[in-house]
Amino acid sequence: MRIVRTRTELREALAEPRREGKRIGLVPTMGYFHEGHLSLMRGAREDCDVVVVSLFVNPTQFGPGEDLDAYPRDEDRDSELAALEGVDLLWMPDPEGMYPEGFATSVEVTNSLAGVLEGDPGHRGPSHFRGVTTVVAKLFNSVQPDIAYFGRKDAQQAVVIERMTQDLDFPVEIAVLPTVREEDGLALSSRNAYLDGEQRERAAAISRALRAAERAAKAGETDTGVLVEAARDELRRAGIEPEYVEARAAEDLSPIAELNGRPVLVAVAARVGKARLIDNVLITPNREA
Ligand code: AMP
Repeated sequence: MRIVRTRTELREALAEPRREGKRIGLVPTMGYFHEGHLSLMRGAREDCDVVVVSLFVNPTQFGPGEDLDAYPRDEDRDSELAALEGVDLLWMPDPEGMYPEGFATSVEVTNSLAGVLEGDPGHRGPSHFRGVTTVVAKLFNSVQPDIAYFGRKDAQQAVVIERMTQDLDFPVEIAVLPTVREEDGLALSSRNAYLDGEQRERAAAISRALRAAERAAKAGETDTGVLVEAARDELRRAGIEPEYVEARAAEDLSPIAELNGRPVLVAVAARVGKARLIDNVLITPNREA
């Protein structure tokens, strides 16, 4: 595996495979790798000739007072793990290279997609997704991958990126892979590192809440308000006050009152201790049967 830091090195490393028509896969990450990241690398390794992983803790997607400085980092361990997965290129740009002085452009998905779940300006708001779409557009332009891999764990992010890719004609296929979980259901996240023992145990209620919503749907409940309440109940029992619990059409995140055969996403964001955790479950029509 080769580690590159600058865009020039990256371009040089990719010139030959590109000329040879090799299939290039990109896995964008903020590092501190866990099985979720590794599953995306494995997916890319299976589909592609060249696997590029970008590792960049993107300052513009953190809000004021968010955990940018405290965000966990371990370049050495990440390099080892990526190499073990057969990654070809690990690109670790520095913030000055990504956002040099005078940087003034942003890419924003302006319909309700970016605001619908994160819309409360007191929390993160659309500026978070503006940070995400701008950096992902830059990553796409620098790597020019054939496929880029994202996790379903960040379901809204995946939908927003799919919209951007389509709207701006990026010639990139977007692959969205399933959420990887701990044994008790907690979705893997770099932010789980913030949890102490008691918080870690409590955090498992988030996935229990989503399973409660899923169970209600499987039992025949079609009112999404009832599904959301089932999830809220489970969180309440664990003393977790969520930022939101929402049921949305999976395809475009539009509000949805009744299950009607379309896939529905039930999504939760909640703070446990210092960690802001998100998770979701996709309720598909055939799982309701
Ligand atoms: P991050 O480093 O947290 O920005 O995540 C990088 C990529 O890994 C994103 O596409 C995430 O959706 C994905 N990811 C994070 N956690 C998980 C998980 N538990 N399972 C699957 N994918 C994940």
